[in-house]
Amino acid sequence: MTPVLNITPISEWLPAQALPLVIAGPCSAESEQQVMDTARELAMIPQVKVFRAGIWKPRTRPGAFEGVGKPGLKWLQRVQKETGLLVTVEVANPKHVEEALEHGIDILWIGARTVVNPFSVQEIGEAIAGHDIPVVIKNPLNPDVKTWLGAIERLNQLGLTKLVAVHRGFSFFNRSPYRNAPMWEIPIELKRLAPNLPIFVDPSHICGNRELIPATIQKAFDLEMNGLMIESHISPSKALTDKNQQITPAHLTELLLKLILRRESGGVEFENKLEALRSEIDKLDEELIDILARRMNVVQEIGTYKKANKITILQLKRWNQLTQDRIEAGIKMGLSREFILKLLESVHEEGIQRQIDVMNSDEP
Ligand code: PEP
Ligand code: MN
Repeated sequence: MTPVLNITPISEWLPAQALPLVIAGPCSAESEQQVMDTARELAMIPQVKVFRAGIWKPRTRPGAFEGVGKPGLKWLQRVQKETGLLVTVEVANPKHVEEALEHGIDILWIGARTVVNPFSVQEIGEAIAGHDIPVVIKNPLNPDVKTWLGAIERLNQLGLTKLVAVHRGFSFFNRSPYRNAPMWEIPIELKRLAPNLPIFVDPSHICGNRELIPATIQKAFDLEMNGLMIESHISPSKALTDKNQQITPAHLTELLLKLILRRESGGVEFENKLEALRSEIDKLDEELIDILARRMNVVQEIGTYKKANKITILQLKRWNQLTQDRIEAGIKMGLSREFILKLLESVHEEGIQRQIDVMNSDEP
């Protein structure tokens, strides 16, 4: 069921001077000096409208730096006053909400470890309800669009309408160069389900290292994401948390300069050409489907023939030879080995099913 969300457009509460909109700041507030030095530099970047800093840090194991706590909120008040930036902190329970609100924090964010738990989201939402404050909702650690959307719906039903989703990747037990697998299909599905909800991308937690960040940012905007939440530290090598993924404000400036913002649509001439190419694709797809159907009919005929002669369905030698031949032919035509293999496997699976149906049917 498609949800109906009541979302206040972001342009009404966070007008952009320059695109894309950026929330930037250190993973953690560590000292007043570090916070102020970072904020002053970030404030010079026109895209940066919001300063982020973790005050209460969720750490995987106890004993690690768990944030400076309440005193850090005063430093953020100084950031507001001296730089004009809005400020945001992560809240993980109603007490955090209360203290952040008491200190006039502009935007609250709910982290990935909290969004997984509907009880926590409800409790936090109830503590915020009645305050007309924007809330940023990171995706849950697990790749589940429903939990993410559920958290957003929960807050929306409590009357909170200034909402932003943040895609920070998913914890995934698989070897990958990313700290948190981007699985772009999930934020894309969220966009489909909630088209009026802005989605920002957090390349820092997706990548886990600086090297992958530029390409991830470009990809985010090529996929029509609406902004960035990125970790920036005045001196990343000295950071107390997430050291490898933080970039300096100067580095952020450089990345934003290199970013190519493509348009969704490109005028009449562009649309006409695109239309012509799309109708060519439509024709080719029609042919493709026709060929696949004809191929399946032949497979079925073979099935009938095998049945009449009491021959098994799976003929591994023939299949291996065929796969080899088709891959070679595909590669010659500029198609990748992986693509051909995937395609053939799918065709083969359907063919086997057809032949099983023939064997099981009452007809001779
Ligand atoms: C963070 O932004 O520093 C953070 C802890 O993020 P996440 O909840 O996405 O892990
Ligand atoms: Mn972090």
